[in-house]
Amino acid sequence: MTMKADILIVDDVPANLELMSSLLAKEGYNIRPALNGKIALTAARNSPPDLVLLDIDMPDLDGYQVCEQLKADEATAGIPIIFVSAMGETIDKIQAFSVGGVDYITKPFQLEEMVARIETHLTIAQQRRELEDQYRELAILREHEKQYFSEMNHMKDQFIATVSHDLKNPINIIMGYVDLLLEGGTITEPDDLEFVRTIGRRAESMFSLVKDLLDLARLEAGMALLSQDVSLTEFLQSCYEDHQLSAWQKEIRLAFSPPQSDVIVKIDPKRMGQVMNNLISNAIKYSPESTEVQIMGQVQNHAVFIQVQDHGRGIPEESLPHLFEKFYRVPDEGETEIEGTGLGLAIVKSILDQQCAQIEVQSELGVGTTFTIILPHSN
Ligand code: ADP
Repeated sequence: MTMKADILIVDDVPANLELMSSLLAKEGYNIRPALNGKIALTAARNSPPDLVLLDIDMPDLDGYQVCEQLKADEATAGIPIIFVSAMGETIDKIQAFSVGGVDYITKPFQLEEMVARIETHLTIAQQRRELEDQYRELAILREHEKQYFSEMNHMKDQFIATVSHDLKNPINIIMGYVDLLLEGGTITEPDDLEFVRTIGRRAESMFSLVKDLLDLARLEAGMALLSQDVSLTEFLQSCYEDHQLSAWQKEIRLAFSPPQSDVIVKIDPKRMGQVMNNLISNAIKYSPESTEVQIMGQVQNHAVFIQVQDHGRGIPEESLPHLFEKFYRVPDEGETEIEGTGLGLAIVKSILDQQCAQIEVQSELGVGTTFTIILPHSN
């Protein structure tokens, strides 16, 4: 391609112009001669050449001014300009580069050297154009991607809002009416009572599923978590108090052992409360009556350990790697299946990941399970 390149040669001395033009035409270039700066500017604007060879010392507009004007115009700014100095004329190299020239040639010049320089700058200009094209394509792609993600996010938000409104609310209403029916005492037939209780239980498990699905969708959509200074002891104390009733209802002794000395942890108290709620509810749910569930806090060097320990049915070793997967439930071989969504621990993991915390499980079948949360802390 370069051998057919369009070169604009600007020189106010006709003999020089002719000589250079004929030499370069023989090398295979398309030559467009211009006898002064004004003609050169008009020619370049009308049809931008691939390269300009520009004499410096010219009346009216000198080479530096012509170069400046070409660089100021977006249509001609990318054209490589090589300055050519006449015999005995000194070239101000700093000015030549500062106005935008890419190279200079001083006379007398060797034809081979001039062709080599022309070729180098034609190649660089071509590569720059290709890079600019690729950059433009990338920018367009990135714009499309941005649009796509914003549409997806919008769809996700709409989905969350719809599920929340169209599913969660009606289930809540059903649960309310079930309570009213049971409390009103108007249903006396044992069978009818059992039907209403079944409706209530089913509605509750649907409610848990919808709530868990919504929580997970919100977390995965990048819900921002807070980072508040919270007293570890106060936080664990409130988690303990929140579960006293449900533990008592199942005849489980809930114990709390606070850290020896309190520390401040940086957490989102609501979301961490949800983590603790899932772990403590599971401990109660998967433990038989008359056993103990313990909530413990410990501080060691730069880490805070929160443990929820139960003496329940335990988890088989082969299930441990899957425990935090969505919808995973340990296959139940017992007579009575315990209700659950299989999403609680996935939510726990998602929240802890966002809090830069870790979770570990130790469990022995028939002996019990301990979940340990490890939080970083700096004081
Ligand atoms: P689920 O709603 O089923 O309780 P989770 O995600 O909270 O879902 O827990 C996943 C599974 O891990 C449960 O189905 C249960 O089999 C097992 N699991 C969780 N916590 C305990 C625990 N403390 N003791 C025994 N098994 C547990």
